Amino acid sequence: MPSYRKFGINPLLIHIVTGKEISEIPVSPSGTSLPGNYGKVISKRMSKLKMTKIKNSYTLMCNNCGRKGKYDLGRIVIDLEYYRKNSSQQIKETEEDSTGMEGFQFSGYFRCHHCNAAGQWSLPNVTKTMLQIAVIGGTLGARAGMNKESIAFGKQTLADGSSFCFVTDAEEHYLGILLQEPNNAWIWNRLGNAYYKGDRQDLAVVAYEQSLKYDPAQMESHYSLGRILYEHGEMEAAASHLRRMLLTARSYDRLDPIDFRNILARGLHILLDIFDDAEKLFDFIPKANEFGDTNSEMNYNKQVPVYLDLDLDLSTFEGFYPIAEMYMGERRTELAVSKQTLILPGKKQGQVIHPKKKKPPKKKAKKRH
Ligand SMILES: [Zn+2]
Repeated sequence: MPSYRKFGINPLLIHIVTGKEISEIPVSPSGTSLPGNYGKVISKRMSKLKMTKIKNSYTLMCNNCGRKGKYDLGRIVIDLEYYRKNSSQQIKETEEDSTGMEGFQFSGYFRCHHCNAAGQWSLPNVTKTMLQIAVIGGTLGARAGMNKESIAFGKQTLADGSSFCFVTDAEEHYLGILLQEPNNAWIWNRLGNAYYKGDRQDLAVVAYEQSLKYDPAQMESHYSLGRILYEHGEMEAAASHLRRMLLTARSYDRLDPIDFRNILARGLHILLDIFDDAEKLFDFIPKANEFGDTNSEMNYNKQVPVYLDLDLDLSTFEGFYPIAEMYMGERRTELAVSKQTLILPGKKQGQVIHPKKKKPPKKKAKKRH
């Protein structure tokens, strides 16, 4: 039996990434066995990090090994529809088979600390009662004094319409697809997002790196990897991925235009925080000639792009919308006209615009992790 492990890892993930036989992989792999460039690094940091996210710790019992432990369930999503359909009488009748977790979804990624099993939980009575209070609180109008960020109502589904109680179940679902199609960059990206929401950045970076291995133009993976590396103080690598996010943006067609612009703007905002200087940022981001497109409406063929002449408030990510729209290329026209922020200044074609000397107001220094 493996020793206690706080951050469990699915051996199947390592099997798919490395091609190692499952029999050669420990039942409960450690963070040092994570493949790729960043998994090990982030894993090491995670155990030292003082987690600032809201903890939703509950006691669960593992049905596989029979041991109890405290697990961070993450955000709890309660499907009130389930409770409406199943009257309390019916629930009582089936109590024998009930795990007490029906109608719940948990965003946290957790595996048994002792045997590394996942998804085989039962609830001690005290936890059952606490979850029931959460439901009652919800039906009474969320007045149970529970933290809004830690509890929500509804039902979350994956892009393919499937729905899971535990992130480890969603993970199995994605890994099942990846066993058949290991080069599916989109599924690797979705898996990365599930890990990220489950507060497992170490696993998320592994999935995002795989996504980029099979599709170097997977824009969302560049953004997400850049953001995690930034959060963990890997500034150079973060900047490199966020730059590639901008380079790959124009050919990306997965996101609706509003989300697309938000991601680009957030990435740019992180880059500003990394450089702490707007001019350095503008020097760093991709220029016209890197797109090999001399006929773009964005005037990309000029050495200095026109965005340097835009009057921007860079203190919030929304301030980057005009620049984000430039990198969206033709896709920016999918934004409703009223939502568009990029109004090209009336400059002559070919006119080189010099950077403004004015810097944005200094933001409060963010805590670097
Ligand atoms: Zn166990």
